[in-house]
Amino acid sequence: MDPRFIDTIPSLSYNDDKCDDEYAFVKALCMSGGDGTNSYSANSRLQRKALTMAKPVLVKTTEEMMMSLDFPTYIKVAELGCSSGQNTFLAIYEIINTISVLCQHVNKNPPEIDCCLNDLPENDFNTTFKFVPFFNKELMITNKASCFVYGAPGSFYSRLFSRNSLHIIHSSYALHWLSKVPEKLENNKGNVYITSSSPQSAYKAYLNQFQKDFTKFLRLRSEEIVSNGRMVLTFIGRNTLNDPLYRDCCHFWTLLSKSLRDLVFEGLVSESKLDSFNMPFYDPNVQELKQVIRNEGSFEINELETHGFDLGHSTYEEDDYEGGHDEANCIRAVSEPMLVAHFGEDIIDTLFDKYAHHVTQHANCRNKTTVSLVVSLTKK
Ligand code: SAH
Repeated sequence: MDPRFIDTIPSLSYNDDKCDDEYAFVKALCMSGGDGTNSYSANSRLQRKALTMAKPVLVKTTEEMMMSLDFPTYIKVAELGCSSGQNTFLAIYEIINTISVLCQHVNKNPPEIDCCLNDLPENDFNTTFKFVPFFNKELMITNKASCFVYGAPGSFYSRLFSRNSLHIIHSSYALHWLSKVPEKLENNKGNVYITSSSPQSAYKAYLNQFQKDFTKFLRLRSEEIVSNGRMVLTFIGRNTLNDPLYRDCCHFWTLLSKSLRDLVFEGLVSESKLDSFNMPFYDPNVQELKQVIRNEGSFEINELETHGFDLGHSTYEEDDYEGGHDEANCIRAVSEPMLVAHFGEDIIDTLFDKYAHHVTQHANCRNKTTVSLVVSLTKK
């Protein structure tokens, strides 16, 4: 390439944007890449279960989209927060399969389909893209359909697609990640998230950030989706309506707080370091979710389902260290990059040994209030 051409491009050094803000670790938000033992790809069975539970809603929503749009000859699908590994393709497969079966059924030619996979730029897209040939082969074998796969790196709290271009949007287990740690988060020391002992102000700060973020998400998607286009969104949520602070004693972030406090006790982490770490996460209940959708106003709710959420410890016996480790690995896969950015790499193995131990202490907890919320929406 002519070196003079390079000179005309403004400098694109991503290191210029070194984050020195209070919650710099949020910029490290992504799942553990690759396909090794501690990767998201190898530790995402819970998310896979959630995808399976949401399948009937996704199939129905896809059929309704095709019929209400009168069988378009071209369909653009977006998968938001796709992460890395095979999970990414499960929902897209269902969408394409549903379209193909429906077209055969009513004797119409299947549409050409573009699938856009979105996640934050730090996501390991390479691991995901390696599955594309297998995915297309599977599609051809099962229903002679095919699609064109694209990457769309960026935050779903910003515009990602051109106006009126999308027909169906899917996102699973991604929208409970906030764009940032809420402001005015005070007096929640020793905890990385809301617990039953947190002050009301912590709940208000988290809810406020969720409302802002999800409202923005809906407004942006309403610009990108065609009229009568559909969205299916699955969140980690809670099924408590009264006490907004209530979280199960074995809630995954409560166990992470406990494990970090163990490290403070052992002198491996300073108290102030722990106090300055808070999860950019919120688990809404049905009312909170509905309220944001109604207030924003661009989408109509077709269905809203609640499903059980089970990280797996109800099947473990007390002191089943292996079982505890499985669950610890699931949480490690979704939080390690942020934890490393804030606490450094050295504590991670010890931290998740502690976590596995705490999991085994809760083998008998049965009263779980964490759930999956699946909502199907139509653009008005
Ligand atoms: N949908 C996948 C992945 C869930 S993990 C599955 O069901 O298995 C959640 C993903 O959301 C992560 O890969 C994370 O990087 C991504 N994510 C979180 N916040 C995001 C944002 N603002 N924009 C885009 N992706 C985001």
